[in-house]
Amino acid sequence: MYRTHTCGELRIENKNETVTLAGWVQTVRKFGAITFVDIRDRYGITQLLFGEELNKQLDENPLGREFVLQATGIVNERSNKNKNIATGDVEINIQSFKILNKSEVPPFTIQDDTDGGDDLRMKYRFLDLRRNAVKRNLELRYAVNRSARNYLHENNFMDIETPFLIKSTPEGARDFVVPSRMNAGQFYALPQSPQTFKQLLMVSGYDRYYQIVKCFRDEDLRADRQPEFTQIDCEMSFVEQEDILNMFEGLIKRIFKDVKGIDYTEKVERMSWEEAMWQYGNDKPDIRFGMKICNLKFPQYIFPTKENISSLIESEFAVFNDAETVVAIAVPGCSEYSRKQTDELIEWVKRPQIGMKGLAFIKCNNDGTYKSSFDKFFTEEKLKAIATAAHAQQGDLILILAGTEERTRKAMSELRLEMGKRLGLRKENEFKLLWVLDFPLFEFALEDQDGGGAGRWVARHHPFTSPKPSDIHIMINNNPKVEDLDKYLEHPYANIKANAYDMVLNGNEIGGGSIRIFQRELQEKMFAALGMDKEEYQHKFGFLLGAFEYGAPPHGGIAFGFDRLCSILGGSESIRDFIAFPKNNSGRDVMLDAPSEINTKQFDELQIKLNLK
Ligand code: ASP
Repeated sequence: MYRTHTCGELRIENKNETVTLAGWVQTVRKFGAITFVDIRDRYGITQLLFGEELNKQLDENPLGREFVLQATGIVNERSNKNKNIATGDVEINIQSFKILNKSEVPPFTIQDDTDGGDDLRMKYRFLDLRRNAVKRNLELRYAVNRSARNYLHENNFMDIETPFLIKSTPEGARDFVVPSRMNAGQFYALPQSPQTFKQLLMVSGYDRYYQIVKCFRDEDLRADRQPEFTQIDCEMSFVEQEDILNMFEGLIKRIFKDVKGIDYTEKVERMSWEEAMWQYGNDKPDIRFGMKICNLKFPQYIFPTKENISSLIESEFAVFNDAETVVAIAVPGCSEYSRKQTDELIEWVKRPQIGMKGLAFIKCNNDGTYKSSFDKFFTEEKLKAIATAAHAQQGDLILILAGTEERTRKAMSELRLEMGKRLGLRKENEFKLLWVLDFPLFEFALEDQDGGGAGRWVARHHPFTSPKPSDIHIMINNNPKVEDLDKYLEHPYANIKANAYDMVLNGNEIGGGSIRIFQRELQEKMFAALGMDKEEYQHKFGFLLGAFEYGAPPHGGIAFGFDRLCSILGGSESIRDFIAFPKNNSGRDVMLDAPSEINTKQFDELQIKLNLK
């Protein structure tokens, strides 16, 4: 037997017991004739005491950091107790020991505050994984996994594996492809998600499916994406949107409870996509704080139901006059910002990532006066009217952006988040869930995307998403062709709403799904709207269309980004910290040194000749 206990287990109650521990040497401290060794495993750290006799043996066989040690001895009460560790009341008076394996000096210290940089720790990830901080993240990941499985199991969901070597799935990214040796010249695609399989399982009658599953998307790795990532993927039959929302807010609340001990009893808030864009400039708003957008000027056809208040900003001021959109937020308590501080904010919005030309502001002074960066054009009376529209209080600083609709709204959304962060309103241990509903079914691709040609509709979610029942007629009765590319937003298709939903947590999209199309005719209409002819969609999705002819039930589902969910619950910005063996920002596994070249024999077997451009 290698060990009787783990290194995190022994307490004062074990006093006088003879025990054997096995683990890694964390530190060796020699004090004259005695030596203290801290031994570590997954469960904790225990102090070992090597007395005079054994010290001699240690001199002959010195211990180094990360040596694998087995040691037997008697549990003693420590005279100077360490309150910081669970085993801190005891130490083991060692009687015999054995070095099970030696270790090179590790390239960085295996401690909470390590001296290893990112790249080094990625290269030696197996050592980094020994560190507490990383271990805690993986423990949290496993806790989320277990909690999800328990909840789904209790609700009759069945975990069914789906294949990885498949034909393309349309989630909007590029596929990773795998050449087939047995079918030379042909390729599998790795699934971007199990979407079509889970729908087929519904046709097969497995009415509640789930899988915690790897998905593969060959995307340019923007910040914090991984080419392979994990989803909690679910699908249900005989459900409407309401059933799905209830079931899966239940799932997330259960995870909150099991993993964080949080009782999230209130109903999850809901907001339409349009409202999210209108109030927050963003389809995944962080609703932990207010600072909602005041829309002073906007294109009416994008928000047809909203009241236009642009008369408030009518003046000779060209910046507002020439803009398509003018939006404002009232930042609480910042009216006393100095020139330097407002200048810094102006520079902030001019950064290329934000891309604005400038920033206007109104100070709502505590004495009831108003002062703006465009005083020349506006009387105080008018400034006050704007402040009222923006729900600003005395002491607030109103920030105003003006420009083209899309860019300005996005910039304001970023500015709001930035100000929220600066004012400490995005609290790390506060969790706020939100359902965003009623997304547009289509997006318009002005640029050529994945070879599909410019100026066409693409599915905002994926092509299996059903339109809202009340909007199906718009799809049936209108030709998808957009005659005037500049006015695509005025095309009837731009207004079709999807029966889709996203779950948002603290400003991050953590899950998304939809009620699916389950009739062949509507699915064909959808493919046609996306610019596919019959031959193309038959070739790509004939199997699904065929299945729809054999009694497909109404169904819908959702998938949660498992890595992201873990990182938010763990209070980290980076999903990498929650993945045992992640890739770096260029999609490389630096430990394995992958991807890498393959040898000529492998190419020969595949009958492939490399001809790099
Ligand atoms: N397959 C979708 C995705 O990966 C999720 C869903 O619609 O269930 O985003």
